[in-house]
Amino acid sequence: TREENTAMTPPASRKTATVITHPDRVIDESTGLRKIDLVHYYESVADWLLPHLKARPVSLVRAPQGIAGPLFFQKHSEAKMPGVVDLDAALWPGHEPLLEIHTLKGIVSAAQMNVVEFHTWNAKIGKIDQPDRIVFDLDPGDGVRWPQLQEAARLMHTLLDELGLQSWLKTSGGKGLHVVVPLAPKLDADAVKAFSKAAVEHIAKAIPQRFVAKSGPANRVGKIFIDYLRNGHGQTTAAAFSARARPGMGVSMPVAWEQLDTLKSGAHWTVKTAREYLSFAGGDDPWAGYWKARQTLAAAVKRLQSA
Ligand code: ATP
Ligand code: MN
Ligand code: MN
Repeated sequence: TREENTAMTPPASRKTATVITHPDRVIDESTGLRKIDLVHYYESVADWLLPHLKARPVSLVRAPQGIAGPLFFQKHSEAKMPGVVDLDAALWPGHEPLLEIHTLKGIVSAAQMNVVEFHTWNAKIGKIDQPDRIVFDLDPGDGVRWPQLQEAARLMHTLLDELGLQSWLKTSGGKGLHVVVPLAPKLDADAVKAFSKAAVEHIAKAIPQRFVAKSGPANRVGKIFIDYLRNGHGQTTAAAFSARARPGMGVSMPVAWEQLDTLKSGAHWTVKTAREYLSFAGGDDPWAGYWKARQTLAAAVKRLQSA
């Protein structure tokens, strides 16, 4: 109900001067969530979201007619959004300037222009050719049950651990989970992607009845595809704390590995429920260590080759 949704209203200090037009327009019929509820969600999580957006090219998913209408995946400026800044065109030669957001104002003015999702590159603008993270995007094929995906995440975690890499977990806000490995930016995207592919193939080879290393829905009926293709140069993944333009409006939520067993789906937390989540109460941030990790891949590449 509308009343429930107003629970997302943020403290006054997190409000901006951005005027929100059509605040009461319902953007998700399944929950009754309105445009203003999404704005309030983003104002509430801005302090957590901004570090994930800052200094990275961002792509925006706009839903001008609500999430059941057409969605527009936008890499370049197409509408006036104060605080959504054009990056140096040299970052991506031959293309329009990429976008970046590093302020609450930018987030809210995007939401005012009906942006629902924020997707970011794996590299920062100062070192655009050296990714500072790997993303393993765990995608369930048709017929895959949730416990199977939880098991896949556990296996991924274990393999990375054995390779000497710390990894962090987030829900996708959609069907799956994302496992993220922060890196010191040293190798180029081709090398990082090659490593991520080899890691996924290693798992698929060890347990072929559970995993496929090949993309495409036909290849993954009943199986899990650990998508390493997110690691190619210029590829994007939904940012932590991004809402999703899907019925129910899940959010991509950082969680602790210990919480994996308690998750019910990739949309475990939503725009409506996110505030119940521990980190918003000022509790422990399950990703606190993520920002401090300075991992290099060289040793892990060697270990994987001899595994
Ligand atoms: P799920 O858990 O349901 O798989 P997800 O976010 O992992 O959710 P998708 O929404 O299927 O997966 O998106 C896959 C990736 O492709 C996203 O990371 C996104 O950044 C990228 N992407 C989505 N739409 C486009 C597009 N139109 N053009 C380029 N890249 C896109
Ligand atoms: Mn996915
Ligand atoms: Mn995918």
